[in-house]
Amino acid sequence: MDYLACPECAGDLKLTPSKSDGVEILEGALNCLSCARNYPIVRGVPRFANLSEIEEDKAATASSFGWEWQHFTQKDERYGEQMLGWIDPVKAEFFKDKVVLDGGCGKGRHMQLAAEWGARDVVGVDLSDAVESAFAASKGTENMHVVQADLCRLPLKRVFDYAYTIGVIHHQLDPSVGFKSLASKVKPGGKFSVWVYGAENNRWIVKLVSPLRERFTSRMNRRALLHLSKLPTAAVYAASKLIYGPLNRTGGGLRLARHLFYNDYMNTISRFGWREQHTIVFDHLVAPTANYISREEFEKWWKDIGATDVQIGWHNKNSWRGTGIVN
Ligand SMILES: [Zn+2]
Repeated sequence: MDYLACPECAGDLKLTPSKSDGVEILEGALNCLSCARNYPIVRGVPRFANLSEIEEDKAATASSFGWEWQHFTQKDERYGEQMLGWIDPVKAEFFKDKVVLDGGCGKGRHMQLAAEWGARDVVGVDLSDAVESAFAASKGTENMHVVQADLCRLPLKRVFDYAYTIGVIHHQLDPSVGFKSLASKVKPGGKFSVWVYGAENNRWIVKLVSPLRERFTSRMNRRALLHLSKLPTAAVYAASKLIYGPLNRTGGGLRLARHLFYNDYMNTISRFGWREQHTIVFDHLVAPTANYISREEFEKWWKDIGATDVQIGWHNKNSWRGTGIVN
């Protein structure tokens, strides 16, 4: 309740629990004291968005990812390292005692890491049904809180020491709106980290994969796509395990590897197993909306919110990561 506010009028909310399980409120209602709107708490999650009532494009994206996140539930010990790669230069120690916002928490994988790294509280927001999985993952951990809401209409106060959004806002029609919305919940002097697909070096995806995704794969039956996506995954898997991985890990091969197509990225994913690579390929085929952001555009977002100490860098030479101070 210290973090929640009415997404429409920013008013305070009054909690009326109807069913709880120890510290966790499972069912109940949140009533806005200013505009009198009501928001239900269903299966442990406060619901500020109803997929049947929001814009079609958002509902379609949320539904695709919600399905994906409930079907890919693997855990990998390298997730921590991977997350730190996306939010670099922020380190695990930084999370200690911080109040953290996860913008687009999916099934809660990064929230769990933030909680393990000592965050005082982690609030994860997602529009999709993946909040059900995130809530299940948060059970028994008192400092993880899951909320179903639109990132552009956050039901939150401006109280966060740190917010991050990893691989999410590029799936919005206008990613700069989600960027600004999340930044507006970071308290003055707090930190914000963002990772998005890059436009540079991804022209082949934009030219070849995106038309296929928009016209065909994102509209397919998801179970069929799950199976069909094993074909390109097999190609990626074989290339990463047999060529990119071994070449990048031998002295002589390294010089050659640098010239290979997409080397930094393929080398990174060569350390992941089949399930993880399948998730990545499926991810690129299922989303109805995906934007590839240029460095220039990314820099502009940070400038527009007046952030300071902004550090922008390449991640695997195919995406941008940025961290800055919100004022
Ligand atoms: Zn209100």
